[in-house]
Amino acid sequence: MAPHDLSQNRSFEAWSKGFRERAEQSGIDGWLLNHCWPQIRLEPGVLEKHSAQAEFTLTICEYLARVVTEKRIKTGRAKFRKYRSALSRISDSYRVDAEVILAIWGVETNYGSTRGDWPVLSALATLAHTSHRAEFFENELLTALTILEQGDATPAELVGSWAGAMGHGQFMPSSFQEFAVDFDGDGRRDIWRIDPRDGLASIANYLRAKGWRMGAPWGVDVHLPDNFDYRLAGHETRRSADEWSDLGVTAADGSRLADYGPGSVLIPSGAMGPAFMAYNNFDVLLTYNRADAYAIGVGHLADRLSGGRALSVQCPDDLAMLTRDEMQELQEKLTAQGFDTLGADGFTGPNTQSALRAYQASRGLAPDGVATGAVLQAIRTET
Ligand code: CA
Repeated sequence: MAPHDLSQNRSFEAWSKGFRERAEQSGIDGWLLNHCWPQIRLEPGVLEKHSAQAEFTLTICEYLARVVTEKRIKTGRAKFRKYRSALSRISDSYRVDAEVILAIWGVETNYGSTRGDWPVLSALATLAHTSHRAEFFENELLTALTILEQGDATPAELVGSWAGAMGHGQFMPSSFQEFAVDFDGDGRRDIWRIDPRDGLASIANYLRAKGWRMGAPWGVDVHLPDNFDYRLAGHETRRSADEWSDLGVTAADGSRLADYGPGSVLIPSGAMGPAFMAYNNFDVLLTYNRADAYAIGVGHLADRLSGGRALSVQCPDDLAMLTRDEMQELQEKLTAQGFDTLGADGFTGPNTQSALRAYQASRGLAPDGVATGAVLQAIRTET
């Protein structure tokens, strides 16, 4: 073992001693702690996964090609047939469309086939000890112990992703506590086992609680006019179909925009990429995973599972999103040019977005606020 590993193990031991005291203070059963403790270890594999994540962002076209594949559509339709009666009861009782439950199941775990087999207690302990979101993971670990106390799972059954997301719908322990349900009535909320019914009902219950409206669309692909004011793109601006129509926004095929209630225009890969109109149900999908691409992917998969048409998304060949390092470089250059991003962390936040929009507007570029390779090239030529 390298000296580095040794010192990390020592510091993990110190952390774990302190955590155990905090767990006892928060009322976790002493017998359970004694029982679980020997199994809670530093997982080097989790640290590797943690540091390797999110190297660069895909364009929405690349993401959709990866997530909504013909195979996933075909498998989803087969699962629909297999679990038709359970899905129809779940859909009726929670008032959530069966296709969207299936789509989340399909994107999260490929319909249950990749539920994850990392030991969740150790994974969460490792992240609580090491990651910059220590408090978040420590709270999830405390909640995981509470789940064991309640008897929904045994320590050996408590497995999931390297980040602690569990079961068919990849619930973090806190989501499990709030939203998991015992659909088959055997007294356990069992989202871990191969039978997906508790897992599917739990996804439905989650979506219901977040405000899903049955039968309403998540969004549609739209066409923006050449003179579109890109400052209106984004979640902050929500307008009626009539208002968007007056601005020249149409359905993707050029026909009049259907009225599905107030919506926001989203351009996940900037003005050069495809545009979408997002409605209330889109916000619900975002609570599951805060990324526009994710919500578009799940929504589109649900549409395809119910026989909907393929989206006509197209991205130019040279469209590229930025790596984290490039993003940091862009933030530094924007700030140096007088468009303060209030820090350079490599992530797009509201400050970076408004600084970027101001820069684009001042240079006669479409002010979409989206960090693409083109905008980085533009600012590189100035400095
Ligand atoms: Ca059950």
